[in-house]
Amino acid sequence: MTPLPCLFHNTRRKHLTRLMQSKWLDNSASRWTGGIALLAAAPMICLAVLMGGRLERTIKLGRYGRRFESLRLVNSAGEALPILGGLPALIPIVRGQMMWVGPEARGLKALDLQDERSRQISSVPPGLVSTWWLRNQTNVAFGGQIATDVDYVATRTIRNDLGILIRSCLAWFYGQRTERFEKEAAILGITIHNTTMDEAVTEILKPLHHGRARQVSFVNVDCINLTFKDPDYRHVLQTSDLRLGDGIGLRIAGRLLGSEVQQNVNGTDLFPKLCAELELRGESLFLIGARPGVVDDVAAWIHKSYPKLLVAGTRHGYFSGTEEPQVMEQIRHSQATVLLVAFGAPRQEKWIRRNLEKLPVVSALAVGGLFDFYSGRIPRAPQWLRELGLEWTYRLYQEPKRMWRRYLLGNTVFLARVLWERWTRPRNNAKEIRAI
Ligand code: UDP
Repeated sequence: MTPLPCLFHNTRRKHLTRLMQSKWLDNSASRWTGGIALLAAAPMICLAVLMGGRLERTIKLGRYGRRFESLRLVNSAGEALPILGGLPALIPIVRGQMMWVGPEARGLKALDLQDERSRQISSVPPGLVSTWWLRNQTNVAFGGQIATDVDYVATRTIRNDLGILIRSCLAWFYGQRTERFEKEAAILGITIHNTTMDEAVTEILKPLHHGRARQVSFVNVDCINLTFKDPDYRHVLQTSDLRLGDGIGLRIAGRLLGSEVQQNVNGTDLFPKLCAELELRGESLFLIGARPGVVDDVAAWIHKSYPKLLVAGTRHGYFSGTEEPQVMEQIRHSQATVLLVAFGAPRQEKWIRRNLEKLPVVSALAVGGLFDFYSGRIPRAPQWLRELGLEWTYRLYQEPKRMWRRYLLGNTVFLARVLWERWTRPRNNAKEIRAI
């Protein structure tokens, strides 16, 4: 006989599952809560209209390609009003044309309903917030909007939607505020190349004119902190051929210093894209770094995920100075296109610089702990934490003894330096930056 508590548990679970899957909850929960929110927002919308704002209507594609009116509050120049601008978007929610969470509502020609993936996306109502919007807010919108939306529709549950909604509220506070980015962003003396992830991959595979290898460095909060103790490292970082902004810390610093960072171009997210592109071009990769065995597990992961990509060679990262000529010979012999070096900062960047002229590759990337992630030795933070820009909290949780100094102390010192720079910067410079 089934024990009573278990029976109760199963019945409760069944009810909950049925409720979660019910059409009623799907449609009505959004409409009711949207109605309550619209009632609360109505005085602010009226006030904004009385003060000169006007409602702008745009026709968008809804569920199954049905058209609906999307609304926002704009000023006389047609720009969305800050904060209040999005409130009228609650109206289509009350009308049942949109939901709180869903794929982003597309313009009339933005979805081709003959295409299977577009049909999948339009099988659910568009959302006021979407996974793509959320990822854009926190600089991690890689992989394209269509793929992100298809993935959302395939894994859509009320629990996931609630998670996205809560994360969107948090991300709204520190999310992206601009669509215009400078080519470079200066953060505490290091100039970041303000590229997207895709642009970075293209750049990495483009040979330099003079034929020598390109040095690629990922710059995160810890790297910048290290440059204050190590001027040689600062020089290596600042003179690397490609300097990519890694992590939410750089975004916050960029915002405070008036140099917004476009995307979180970190090595761990860039790696699969680089592998895919190398596989497509029939080119190869050499991996050096991490403990013995780790690098072989990464090679095994590559063979499984990108079967046509050639791993031209591997080598663990614990070798002596006397073994170095042999290591260089192994790399030369491999004829790899790209070299990944994972010795940890600053050793890896300095090692690449010392050997740059001798490295027969198109690009050499310093990738820190990347091999530990892809070998499966250290699990990566769940997607929802990454979407909040809080991957570092997971690293802290995994290795508190090693990481507390880097993250708790390091982040605080970094933020203090950024604020100091902001306050002590010459005035006319600050004005110029605000104008951007
Ligand atoms: N490592 C190495 N040789 C060394 C010291 C470290 O190959 O002499 C490896 C280490 O095993 C680890 C990586 O370098 O896989 C450094 O990881 P960490 O997370 O510290 O790097 P970060 O991303 O912080 O630069």
